[in-house]
Amino acid sequence: MLKQRDAFEFQLKNIANTDPLTGVSNRLALSEYLKIVESYPQKFSQTCLMIIDIDHFKSFNDSYGHAAGDEALSQVAALFQRHSRNYDFFARYGGEEFVLILPGTDTASANKTLEKLRLVVANHEWLLRQLTVSIGLASADLFDDKKQLLEVADQMLYKAKTQGRNQTSVFATL
Ligand code: GH3
Ligand code: MG
Ligand code: MG
Repeated sequence: MLKQRDAFEFQLKNIANTDPLTGVSNRLALSEYLKIVESYPQKFSQTCLMIIDIDHFKSFNDSYGHAAGDEALSQVAALFQRHSRNYDFFARYGGEEFVLILPGTDTASANKTLEKLRLVVANHEWLLRQLTVSIGLASADLFDDKKQLLEVADQMLYKAKTQGRNQTSVFATL
């Protein structure tokens, strides 16, 4: 009986932490993960965080409809999941934005991953219209307060957008 209840609770927690469209972790799971990062700053000193945003996605929806947009979102999520390591944390942040956290990764290697991921989307043969993403990256070793990670990555994403989209931007190069 107890085992059954444990399994049920586990399932409920899983549902609560999963984005129903893409099947990846949701914003709730992300905030739980970030709480852990903030609580153990030493453990996560070599950690990088990326925010990934699909370019011109409103126009994609406007042209092909919301259902096609949903399908494209799921495919983008699947691509990122496939190209990240199993100890990375990947979540849908909201709308057409995703967050990838790379624990135990210095800025130099995260930089390589960043460009690789941008190209994975840009080189994928999309059926309806070619999709691209812009990515902002922040490295935890630059801040004592890990709360800043998400905020700074978001500023870098904004910079990548203003640089023309299908671009990446890293805090270290600011
Ligand atoms: P930018 O390059 O500046 O990011 O432009 P954008 O059009 O991607 O950005 P904007 O914020 O203007 O629009 C985001 C769009 O993403 C609007 C909304 O229709 C779409 N979107 C957000 N969530 C979903 C979803 O769950 N399904 C679908 N189909 N579309 C979504
Ligand atoms: Mg957006
Ligand atoms: Mg967008």
